[in-house]
Formats: sequence, C-alpha cells, structure tokens
Amino acid sequence: MYDLVIKGGEVVDPAQEIHDVLDIAVRHGRIEKLGKAPDADQAREVIDAGGKIVCPGLIDLHTHVYEKVTALGVNPDVVGVKCGVTTVVDAGSAGYADFGGFSAFIAPRSLTNAFCFLNIASTGLSVMPEICHWGDIDVEGTVRVAKENRELIKGIKLRLVGPMMIENGLDVVRQARAIAEAAGLPLMVHIGDHQADHNKSQALTRQMLGLLRKGDILTHPFTVSPGRVIDADGGVLEEFQEAIERGVLVDVGHGNRSLSFDMVRLGLERGILPFTISSDVSGLVLRSRVYSLPVTMSKFLNLGLGLEQVIRMTTANAATALGMSDALGSLKAGMPADITVAQLVRGDWDFQDSLGNHMAGQVMFTPVATITGGRIFPGDGGLGRGAEGLTPNP
Ligand SMILES: [Zn+2]
Repeated sequence: MYDLVIKGGEVVDPAQEIHDVLDIAVRHGRIEKLGKAPDADQAREVIDAGGKIVCPGLIDLHTHVYEKVTALGVNPDVVGVKCGVTTVVDAGSAGYADFGGFSAFIAPRSLTNAFCFLNIASTGLSVMPEICHWGDIDVEGTVRVAKENRELIKGIKLRLVGPMMIENGLDVVRQARAIAEAAGLPLMVHIGDHQADHNKSQALTRQMLGLLRKGDILTHPFTVSPGRVIDADGGVLEEFQEAIERGVLVDVGHGNRSLSFDMVRLGLERGILPFTISSDVSGLVLRSRVYSLPVTMSKFLNLGLGLEQVIRMTTANAATALGMSDALGSLKAGMPADITVAQLVRGDWDFQDSLGNHMAGQVMFTPVATITGGRIFPGDGGLGRGAEGLTPNP
C-alpha cells in the first residue's frame, strides 16, 4: 500500500523533461512511482492535485537560516516547508569556528533539509563586514571543518564586501579559491558592495571572475551596487560572459540589496539567464520585498521567464549546484519524496525589488502543500503573499 498518492496534478519535473498530467505514489518517504496510479484509492492518503502544479520540492540555494546565532538568521522552516521549499542552503552565515551550532541546533532540528556554504571568515556573518584583517581567516580550520562535515557543507562562501576587499581583495579571493580547492568544494562569491568605490570594486569583480571555475557560483548578478556585472547602460562585463561560458553558475540571491528589476530586464535582454533562482531571505526582508523563494520565483515569471524555467532553476539546477542531483531536485522513482504542490494564482500583484521599485504582476506561484520527510505541510499563512501569520515551528 502507498503512503501517499498525489493525483492528477500537472507534473513539472525538468530533470526528467517531464511536463504532463500524472500521479505520484510515495512509500516509506520515497517516490515509488511517477505515472498513472490506478490503485491510488488504496493509499493511506490521497491529495487531489487537479488543476495544481506538482514539482520536485523547491531548493532555495541562498538563504540565511542560522537563527539566534546571527542577527539576520531566520527559522529554516518558516522559509522552508511552510512555503513550498523542502531544502534551504545557508550561504555563509557560519564560519569554521561557529559551524558547530549549525550542525547541532539548526540542521537536525529543522523539518526542512538544511545545508550550508561555509564562510571563509572564521565566525561567518555574526559580525559584518566579516573580513576586516587577515586574522579573520583561518585557512587550516576552514578546510578541516569543511572536509569533516561533507554531509552538511556543500560549498565555500566569500563576500566581496568591506574595506579589506578594496585593499587586499584579490589576495582574499585567491585565499578563498585555495580553501575551496583544498576542501574539494565549489566557491560561491557575493558581488556588490553599496559603500565601495565603483571603479575599485569593478576592477576586483573582473579579477575575481577570472579565477572562478566550472561549478563555482556567482551570486547577485542583478545588483546595482558597485562591483556589479551589468552596467546601468546595459553593458555586461566581458569577464562575466566568459565565466558563464566556462560553466560558472549564476545565482540570483535576491536579498536586501541585490536585485533590481531594471537589472533583471537588462540582463534577460542580453541573454543572461540565472542558473538558480534563490531568495537570499534573511530577517531583513522576511516580512517585506523578498518574503520567500516562491515570491522570488513569481517575480521572474512576471518578468518573462516560463514556468518550466523557474522550476528548473529551483529544482534540478539547484541540485546540480549542490552536487546532489542523485538525491534532490527530481521526482524520479527512488528519490526522497520531496514534493511541492502549487497553484498559479492570478490577480493584481504588487512586487517590489530590493530598491523598493514596484512592478505590477498578474501571477503568483503559490504553494498549497509541501511534502518532505514523510510529512505533509499545508500551504497556510498567506503563502506566496508574505510570511505574515507564520509561526516558527509546526
Ligand atoms: Zn546572502
């Protein structure tokens, strides 16, 4: 007998190039069957997904969920299973010295799968800017912790922010590069520093891009801050184009300062497609502008991307970026049953970018149920509209 059958939904699974009305049968927390399930009625639980979209559980590649330890951390379940997201990746909130709290108190206690990219700054984002002098980086400690915690640490994080980056930026990038290489992990680099000098910051971004390799991740491509890769006149840095051609992955990382609708429009016009859409949600924007991954996806739907594209960017592609395509991001038989059921709700939606610019939109990708770890979480609390009304733990 199946534990759960999700019946008759419009299944979108880009990893398998599937877009069809199908049933999904789940047993013992795994996908048992994707196709027609004539014996669905015998399942312990049946979700009628008629008229709904059913996709692999969404993966938010850039979040800040180191709650209580960093001031900007939010509860992983509030931005996870409560809003259609079955996997969150914390992008650099923890460094090697305070990673222990993430592995002891965050990952095991959240119902949402939680992974992280380890900051090269020893104490992560507990204080920002996190790298003010060389003493803030411990190469040996960072490599050791990354190697010892492969099940949770999926990459290395560097933010090109603060006076140290203007003074010694390229050397810091080289240091991060060496750490990622020694740890055998991809490097995620944050660009955009609103307080920096434009020319110096841009020079550093260009040099940094030259050092990124296939599988490394550039986050915040649509920022207007100094260090950006797209200029106000629409010019795209040559080094950025070349990096994309080499296989460097482009991650949205919406966040508090890092997404401008104008930059997205300019980028899309010039063929800059993000590889992953992520929210960069934190306490700064949980209740305004960003809200969640589904709201961020909705912005891209309204900016012209297709449904399959935005789902690919938040499932198959995000799993690739994590090096976890065999375990996440698809509804293949045998995969963990991480599933999102959603609805495209039409209406007059008002979206805001990081700068507070408004955009009218007609469609909102709204999760109605999230399945992970053998549990079903209903889409409650104004999902797809904002996080108001959500409580920290179910
Ligand atoms: Zn971030």
